Amino acid sequence: MPAARLASISVDLDSLPHYCRIHGLPETLLDDRARTLIHRVAVPRFRDLLASVGVPGTFFAIGEDLEADPGAAAGMRQSHAAGIEVASHSHAHDYALSRRGAAAIADDLARADAAILKATGVRPSGFRAPGYTLNADLYAATVAQGYQYGSSAFPAAPYYAAKAAVMGALAALGRPSRSVLDTPRVLLAPRVPYRPDPAQPYRRGTGAVVELPMTVTPVVRFPFIGTFATTLPRGTMRAAYRACRADAFFNFELHGVDVLDAADGIPPELVRQQRDLRVRAAKKQERLRSIFQWLKEDFDVVTLRDAAGQLSATL
Ligand SMILES: [Zn+2]
Repeated sequence: MPAARLASISVDLDSLPHYCRIHGLPETLLDDRARTLIHRVAVPRFRDLLASVGVPGTFFAIGEDLEADPGAAAGMRQSHAAGIEVASHSHAHDYALSRRGAAAIADDLARADAAILKATGVRPSGFRAPGYTLNADLYAATVAQGYQYGSSAFPAAPYYAAKAAVMGALAALGRPSRSVLDTPRVLLAPRVPYRPDPAQPYRRGTGAVVELPMTVTPVVRFPFIGTFATTLPRGTMRAAYRACRADAFFNFELHGVDVLDAADGIPPELVRQQRDLRVRAAKKQERLRSIFQWLKEDFDVVTLRDAAGQLSATL
């Protein structure tokens, strides 16, 4: 049994070219600075933020970003030296990765591992799927790759994914019983660490790679993620936090953009699509600092790799 309740803080380092792809914007909008902004500006800010609270973290790096920019690779080396785990967020961040077939998936994961190994000197021991989409093929590849854990399951109610539905999400926090009536299938996925069934990795089974789902609140399954943490009222996040505080494991997921704002040099076309970029970076960092502090007071904050190591014996 783990000695203490554990929490992890992880940051997906999706670079701005990947955001352009999500929003259907041309990557020609991005100048050289914008292309490397996540690694050259957000990564050091996150490193400082974690160090200022005195907690470790996990960075999920995209292989091709490390290959494209020597500064990104150097940043991962420096992060690793500072005690931050560098894990894999795939090589190309292909949203359809799970549907590409076993050979293409294996190739993508191996390329990401090689890029991370080259940057940090250590092979990654964890994986997060692009777009949080896991299936049997992708799970099998994570087993073949020898990872210790995956952290791809995002068992949130899908209506929270639509930013327009945030008000509905807020209302649902106070009315759990009604909102849960129209339960979609994703709500049946475990919200606590589990061993997946390799054939259906969102179900429990005996798979070798343990799954550490991202934290959502009990019952209404409101996702406790960086985008909401930096943009919703503090009282709302405190209420959501309290709902999860009794969990044996708290998995706080963020993105590089959570510490950036428009003034950092992000094209206005992208800012229009990502409304959280309008909130000042200093304000977002201050909010994150207090949430990291909450976690530090209530949990033993460790990297996802260490959480997997401590939890796997109990699963
Ligand atoms: Zn991502």
